Amino acid sequence: MARVALVTGGSRGIGAAISKALKDAGCTVAASYAGNDEAAAKFTDETGIRTYKWNVADYEASKAGIASVEADLGPIDIVVANAGITKDAPFHKMTPEQWNAVIDTNLTGVFNTVHPIWPGLRERKFGRVVVISSINGQKGQFGQVNYAATKAGDLGIVKSLAQEGARFGITANAVCPGYIATEMVMAVPEKVRESIIAGIPAGRLGEPEEIARCVAFLVSDDAGFINGSTISANGAQFFV
Ligand code: NDP
Repeated sequence: MARVALVTGGSRGIGAAISKALKDAGCTVAASYAGNDEAAAKFTDETGIRTYKWNVADYEASKAGIASVEADLGPIDIVVANAGITKDAPFHKMTPEQWNAVIDTNLTGVFNTVHPIWPGLRERKFGRVVVISSINGQKGQFGQVNYAATKAGDLGIVKSLAQEGARFGITANAVCPGYIATEMVMAVPEKVRESIIAGIPAGRLGEPEEIARCVAFLVSDDAGFINGSTISANGAQFFV
């Protein structure tokens, strides 16, 4: 699959596994990140995948970053909007800053990432958009009103993009990971993490590669009729 792929937040955690899986599938991959230069440099050393720094919450920065990726690698065919953050607090203690930071990165960041790429996908009559949502966007989560709102919003984004893009050969899908062993989850206090694992029928956290394989399938030519869908990968942690 000789395509150009952009993975936001692609230098660490789930995004790094996605970048590697797409490279293994034959794509030329650009991995963007926010500010952790050390992790990005290490990632490039280990994988040979180029990294680019910009803040997905900033539309002009995203546009410029995407333009520099395309100048280096050619037009982007595949975009994986993976960059995300948490700023947890129970609702009565959540500050407008916590709310806005998460909305700006996780939700507006998806707009900022896909919007500059979209006209080229339409023109070339091929595109793959994957947004990394979350089980907590499907079920809500104590302390994550901001995060759950963004991740539920992602599902609305892909369902709408799917309808707009289908006749141009563009698919847009979401992956909803359950709890995956990355720095984001390992930062949770051990006691809380143990109780999370106890609630997962598989009895373990997921691995980033298990999410990456879902993405690699969704962006493949074989997945052309899967559009507007959500893949839940959560170890049978049902929520209805
Ligand atoms: P990590 O914290 O391990 O990595 C986050 C990545 O996103 C980093 O590369 C980071 O860059 C980048 N990033 C964060 N903010 C911005 C920004 N404003 N602009 C550009 N890049 C940014 O996260 P995970 O791998 O755990 O999560 C990846 C995605 O998966 C997120 O959307 C998350 O919500 C979702 N998810 C994760 C789950 C989990 O259990 N881990 C479960 C369900 C969903 P830098 O390295 O510079 O900080």
